[in-house]
Amino acid sequence: MPPKRFTILVIPEGSHKVRRFSVERVVLKRFFAVAAFLSIGFFLLVFDYVQINLDQKELHRLRVENRSQGEDLHKLMVKLDDLRKELVVLAQNDAKVRVMAKLTKPKNDSLAGIGGPAEADVSKQFDDIQRRIDTIRRQIDLRRESQEEIQGFLNDERSLLSAKPTGWPVKGWLTSTFGMRRDPFTGKRKMHEGLDIAARTGTDVRVTADGIVSSVRTEPGYGKMVVVEHGYGYRTYYSHNSKNYVKVGQRVKRGDRIAAVGNTGRSTGSHVHYEIRLNGLPVNPKKYL
Ligand SMILES: [Zn+2]
Repeated sequence: MPPKRFTILVIPEGSHKVRRFSVERVVLKRFFAVAAFLSIGFFLLVFDYVQINLDQKELHRLRVENRSQGEDLHKLMVKLDDLRKELVVLAQNDAKVRVMAKLTKPKNDSLAGIGGPAEADVSKQFDDIQRRIDTIRRQIDLRRESQEEIQGFLNDERSLLSAKPTGWPVKGWLTSTFGMRRDPFTGKRKMHEGLDIAARTGTDVRVTADGIVSSVRTEPGYGKMVVVEHGYGYRTYYSHNSKNYVKVGQRVKRGDRIAAVGNTGRSTGSHVHYEIRLNGLPVNPKKYL
């Protein structure tokens, strides 16, 4: 039989009186039960609190991550759209050259079909991106085929002699040659894929072989530029012009005036940046002067 009552002694230090409390067993039992209950409750609360705090941090991290991924996807989509727009311009140029070359069927399927607003759903966004990439790839293949066909036409129409770039595009003096050099803007070593020929602004730039103008455009680096397709794999580029005198699709004969020397784009003075590409690869124009 356990005792009915307990006596609790409180003994202070020094000469203070000892206190004694008499407690019933039932009361003491209840007290411990309640104490145990409260402390378990307290621990559960603390545990919950810590857990919620951690979850919240995780949630915040995921939200931030999600947002930045969304932004990345959006940037990618914008880049793809820029690519598509470039291809549209190329396709338009191509069509003009094809008309000049009397090549009938236009090598062009709809590029307008893709683009438009980006999907909101992430899984759909990936599909969307994949679809855009596929369309762009198809377009590039079509352009390549078309370019080969145009080259073929040019080969049939004229002799290698008239298609091969010959002589200087402008009367001037060489200021930079073909090959590795220090970039005048960034100071980094970089391939210079053409010749720089300095001349006074407004001086005539003349095409160095017969051909068809395949591009007339303005680029941030090259400024106003003209590209001429000659056949036999030859293509010439004339950049930094102050004026372009020709239109895409126009036939030109060696020596025809196509532009005026200038200082447009990334240029440190009035000059022509002259490039020759043979089968798409830059070659040293000095060998063709
Ligand atoms: Zn140059």
